[in-house]
Amino acid sequence: MNKEIALRLTPQEASSEVFYRPLVAKQLGVRPDEITGLRVVRRSIDARQKQVFVQLHVQAWVNEAVPVAETFTLGYSNVSTAPRVIVVGAGPGGLFAALRLIELGLCPVVIERGKEVSERKKDVALLNRNQGLNPESNYAFGEGGAGTFSDGKLYTRSHKRGDIHKFLQVLCFHGADGDILVDTHPHVGTDKLPAVIKNIRQTILDAGGQVLFNTRMDDLLIDDNTVQGVVTATGDRIEAQAVILATGHSARDVYHLLHRKGVALEAKTWAMGVRVEHPQELIDNIQYHTNQGRGSYLPAASYSFTTQVQERGVYSFCMCPGGFIVPAMTGPDEMVVNGMSASRRNSPFANSGMVVEIRPEDIGEFQNHGVMGGLMFQQHVERLCYINGGNGVIAPAQRLGDFVKGRLSFDLPDCSYVPGLVASPLHFILPDNMALRLRDGFKQFGKWADGFLTNDALVVGTESRTSAPVRIPRNADTLQHIHVNGLFPCGEGAGYAGGIASSAIDGEKCAERLAAIIFHKEISE
Ligand code: FAD
Repeated sequence: MNKEIALRLTPQEASSEVFYRPLVAKQLGVRPDEITGLRVVRRSIDARQKQVFVQLHVQAWVNEAVPVAETFTLGYSNVSTAPRVIVVGAGPGGLFAALRLIELGLCPVVIERGKEVSERKKDVALLNRNQGLNPESNYAFGEGGAGTFSDGKLYTRSHKRGDIHKFLQVLCFHGADGDILVDTHPHVGTDKLPAVIKNIRQTILDAGGQVLFNTRMDDLLIDDNTVQGVVTATGDRIEAQAVILATGHSARDVYHLLHRKGVALEAKTWAMGVRVEHPQELIDNIQYHTNQGRGSYLPAASYSFTTQVQERGVYSFCMCPGGFIVPAMTGPDEMVVNGMSASRRNSPFANSGMVVEIRPEDIGEFQNHGVMGGLMFQQHVERLCYINGGNGVIAPAQRLGDFVKGRLSFDLPDCSYVPGLVASPLHFILPDNMALRLRDGFKQFGKWADGFLTNDALVVGTESRTSAPVRIPRNADTLQHIHVNGLFPCGEGAGYAGGIASSAIDGEKCAERLAAIIFHKEISE
């Protein structure tokens, strides 16, 4: 017999087969020693009630041999002589586009402005020591894109974004832990992501594709409304039948390039705000309904809040339990923060973006810049925070209670942000339409989660790069730019994804449509 059964267990019972084997046996009406194998197929935490439970779905085999776990194999055959496709950007969108192109018999040439991941690590370390920003190699630019030194959460708010399971399998194939296939909220962690990304690069190279680092696209070759290739910063022309443009939302120069060339762009709604950080123990106590921390068996707790204030969404974004706040700017005179965590999520801090929905009509005088107004507004707020920070990447910060009450903090609690903080009146510095909505949002979240609105927490400015304020419009069927044949705007920077998983899946979709056009056939998804 083999059967899948659902168990509702205490965290300790769920922590080891030793504990739950007898419970499975009881449910199946057999002796524990008759169970020949158990395999967890789904795991989630239910913390809605005072007693926290772990929901475990396990496949149990009784008195029969356990089959070898299905291994996921991918068809990466050699494509070195196949038609070439340029993929600009080696973030999740670009890398997954490249892998899918190979599966479909096309040869990707990935060009990436930043460095390969090991070299990139050194630049990120310098940035954290406040020893200078490399505008081409930082938390946003370089191999793996913004997804490398990230929290590595691998889920999307929307479930309509394609085949998440295959995306997770591809990551496992390249070295990610198999747990991501069973956890409801899969997470890799920044300590494990670089190795996975290197393995993806190796797959591309082994299949005959190319990955060119320190290679920035500075121009697109377009003739008769059809893309012919790209020109790099060193003036080299790389020609190809198609270009997948997966440059992320921090590549402002790419939006300016497209705008200058008359390639249509659209203004869109996006979100920005601050990072908020609490002691992790406080969040554990709130979410697990205790005053003794999470104990030995539960992971660092997370939260998700969303509300409406004056007809705009205010919500938590990219919550990083047991994580760190990091400097995520890409240019001089910018202050941008984001969050990441290691696989064990064991820092004593819990941080999250807290952002306000910004619509194109919310940006005041910046509307005069037309389609580029959102970008200019975003940059303006980043500059304000830079000026009110201090000396390079020291970030402006305020205690959360003080932010809500509109008063300067005369001191600041400990924070995970390594470069350091300076007390600053963020409630005053941020544009009113953000600061006042954030204030009311925090009050609401404090009502829902007793203890959340506390002066032991910090707000740090600014979380401005949650999504792109600009869309690069594409045809809904072919996924090509609405006016430029062969140009496939892709991922978060194009406005079609938000996060690692959805950007990667969008990359796959672009590769599929592109292959269908090149080979004049429909490819099934
Ligand atoms: P990107 O990842 O931004 O990649 C774009 C790539 O294009 C970059 O490598 C860039 O260098 C390159 N590029 C840009 N311009 C050019 C050019 N002109 N020529 C050549 N190359 C160029 N998302 C999650 O889902 N979960 C998380 O836990 C999470 N944590 C995050 C933590 C941090 C610190 C940050 C910064 C982001 C985090 N994100 C997270 C967001 C996630 O990383 C992005 O949504 C995702 O990486 C977007 O993928 P993308 O491929 O569209 O773009």
